[in-house]
Amino acid sequence: SQIPVVTIDGPSGSGKGTVAALLAAKLGWKFLDSGALYRLLAFAARNHGVDLTNEEALKVLAAHLDVQFDTAESGQGMCIVLEGEDVTEAIRNEVVGAGASQVAALPAVREALLQRQKAFREAPGLVADGRDMGTVVFPDATLKIFLTASAEERARRRYLQLKAKGDDVNLASLLDEIRARDERDTQRAVAPLKPADDAIQLDSTALSIEQVLGQILSEVAERD
Ligand code: C5P
Repeated sequence: SQIPVVTIDGPSGSGKGTVAALLAAKLGWKFLDSGALYRLLAFAARNHGVDLTNEEALKVLAAHLDVQFDTAESGQGMCIVLEGEDVTEAIRNEVVGAGASQVAALPAVREALLQRQKAFREAPGLVADGRDMGTVVFPDATLKIFLTASAEERARRRYLQLKAKGDDVNLASLLDEIRARDERDTQRAVAPLKPADDAIQLDSTALSIEQVLGQILSEVAERD
């Protein structure tokens, strides 16, 4: 039978990245952070002087993206190496996030990254985190979760995250950025952010990471 896949889709700041990584570790499964691919492309484009509106050049860049996802020595999180450079931290800012959402709206880019994402499906299983994991990339997934939270709560979480890193951040402008990115991700013509028909919707606004993880784990157990 097919290799099992749990998809976790939702807007940024819903906690899906953290939950997906923890779930993969708990199950001993592979992990796909699909947003990282779009971030890497936006980052690589800047390195190569490729304009974020140049669909043809971005498509070529996406097809040849030289990237490695290494599990960190500690087993904690993932180390991402682009063209020999450790960019794990460098791709995690709002500028790269906005660039990612810009290139992600281009059909040729999504097409070029599709097979690369499907290839993450390896035994014993995969947890895939993104926007269209359940709708487009793994429509036959074992379990589909759509994780949301209010924009205010998501901005607050991002604020605390960035502040802990020592970044100089402003809550109001983070909220504006999150709303703009939501708007772009839900309104775009290709693979818009929306729950799959067979997805389970979870609102994490008032839940801790542990509570969300617990709910998803019990859904996984039910399907065993
Ligand atoms: O999840 P993350 O914030 O890293 O994603 C960055 C951007 O990449 C998103 O705002 C979205 O536009 C895009 N993305 C996407 N499809 C995915 C994952 C991310 O379009 N599966």
